[in-house]
Amino acid sequence: MNEGLWTRCNSCQRILYKQDILDKNSVCPACDFHFRLSAPERLASLFDDGQFEILDHEVKSQNPLAFVDSQPYEKRLADSQKRTSLPEAVVNGLGTVGGIRVVISALEFGFMGGSVGSVVGEKVARAAERALAERIPLLIVSVSGGMRMQEGILSLMQMAKTSAALGRLGEAKIPFLSILADPTTGGTTASFAMLGDLNIAEPNALIGFAGPIVIEQTIREKLPKGFQRSEFLLKCGMLDDVVHRKNLKPYVVRALRLLLNKPAE
Ligand SMILES: [Zn+2]
Repeated sequence: MNEGLWTRCNSCQRILYKQDILDKNSVCPACDFHFRLSAPERLASLFDDGQFEILDHEVKSQNPLAFVDSQPYEKRLADSQKRTSLPEAVVNGLGTVGGIRVVISALEFGFMGGSVGSVVGEKVARAAERALAERIPLLIVSVSGGMRMQEGILSLMQMAKTSAALGRLGEAKIPFLSILADPTTGGTTASFAMLGDLNIAEPNALIGFAGPIVIEQTIREKLPKGFQRSEFLLKCGMLDDVVHRKNLKPYVVRALRLLLNKPAE
């Protein structure tokens, strides 16, 4: 048996043929568990024929606070760049989805937990500005632990910057769809991920601001089952829909046509 051809599902623990998972957009064929997609995989799964132009590739992070935790920030950046082959924790793509020209900003969890520092914030803002300049819709796919600790207050400022850029898009009545994948937490949830004209999540994604342990300790109560998961948040009115990955692209196309008042040909 060639070990590289097989993998274990994180959820049902079944041993699965890798190609069967890939054929289903990285969803477990046995239990519907949604494996995490990288930013390039996500963009390829949404854009027509998997084709898109990469935008803002040249923007790279510095270490403005000369931050060192157990490792210098530069080293963490270099390691993540090597591991993901990406310059930062977000990729901006331009192309068509169902024939509609759109900008998509996809976050990369493999790069420091998809955390948002000044470069990720800048790139998300630039994606919104490009959408505004061309008057085309914007999609942001969030997979992010929140703002990046290593840039301190500069990271927190990205919440205001991205929100302001999205506000300008809203004033111009240009559609913005937010797709929340597992996990979307912290300042990402508290800024751009929840500002969509539609906020759509994948099934069973962890979505929240503070983590459950912090909340339990603060309110001194046991949290309900499924707390901070997509389906629970939908029931509470925090999301507009929960969409299985196999239906995500057709859903996005339908939503864009509706928001653009552009009936299917
Ligand atoms: Zn499974």
